[in-house]
Amino acid sequence: MGMFDSVMVPCPTCGERVEFQSKEGECLCSVFTLANAPTEVVWDIINSPERCGNCGSWMALIDPNVPPGKRPRPNPMAAKVKTPSNPITHSQGFQWWPDDHDFTFDDLLQPLMTGQDGDTHSAGAETNNPAIAKATGKPTP
Ligand SMILES: [Zn+2]
Repeated sequence: MGMFDSVMVPCPTCGERVEFQSKEGECLCSVFTLANAPTEVVWDIINSPERCGNCGSWMALIDPNVPPGKRPRPNPMAAKVKTPSNPITHSQGFQWWPDDHDFTFDDLLQPLMTGQDGDTHSAGAETNNPAIAKATGKPTP
């Protein structure tokens, strides 16, 4: 509790540094500038006005490409992914997705279904479920 990262940004009116606080990210009480703040921290402070303690004027961090307003919540679903050729392997056998391999939809085991025309959305997941229900619901003779 009470842990936050700070981004110090010069006030556009008087030039004094104004603190923007973020509870996203690692929250190790780090102090960043706009140039080196991590992405999740920037997301937390953008479009959120602060008042300069020195001159009393208000300022906000804005990006013309990111207009104010709530970002829509993504609606993810689980999808099978191809095994990466060079996973990061931990000594205890854990594996992580390789840092040098940016995940794209080409890494999916099954081609992405856009569901544009409405009748492709059920092709993957829902054909499996009745089979599972059948197998577990009916005792085999
Ligand atoms: Zn100021």
